[in-house]
Formats: sequence, C-alpha cells, structure tokens
Amino acid sequence: MIELVLLIFIAGSIAAVIKILRQIIAERKCASDFEIGKFYNGSLKQNDTAYRRFIAHLGICEKCQNRLHNFQQGDDLVDHLTSNSD
Ligand SMILES: [Zn+2]
Repeated sequence: MIELVLLIFIAGSIAAVIKILRQIIAERKCASDFEIGKFYNGSLKQNDTAYRRFIAHLGICEKCQNRLHNFQQGDDLVDHLTSNSD
C-alpha cells in the first residue's frame, strides 16, 4: 500500500515538473509572425495563455522585441503604400 501511495506521489511530482518544463520551453520559443501580428493589432486577449507567454518571451528575447518593432515600422509602410494605391 505504501508503495502505491509513493508511486502516485512520484507520478504527480513528475507531472508537475514536466508541466513547468513545458512552460519554460514555451516561453523560450520565439513567437511566430502571426502571434506578433495578433499582439500588435490587439486581438490577443490579456487573460489568454498565448498573451502571457508572448509577454514573458518578449521580456527575455531581444530578437522578438526587434521583430515587434519592425512590425510597427512595416505597418507604417503598408499604410503608406495603401494610401497611394487609389
Ligand atoms: Zn524570440
């Protein structure tokens, strides 16, 4: 009986560690252009897991900070191009 309790406890601990590791790996993974676009146009909800992951990642990744910055500049370019097209 003790063995069973111990086994359940160990399984629970492993599951908790895996959950934390997956969270860390997810935060380290760079955001896609689609995610940055969603964040930029405000369609990413603040209570969303994707939003929190993106913010957490943005804090540690200079590359994605630059990509978001480029996205903002790109948007100005699109505005400029579309306003000239008609
Ligand atoms: Zn990144």
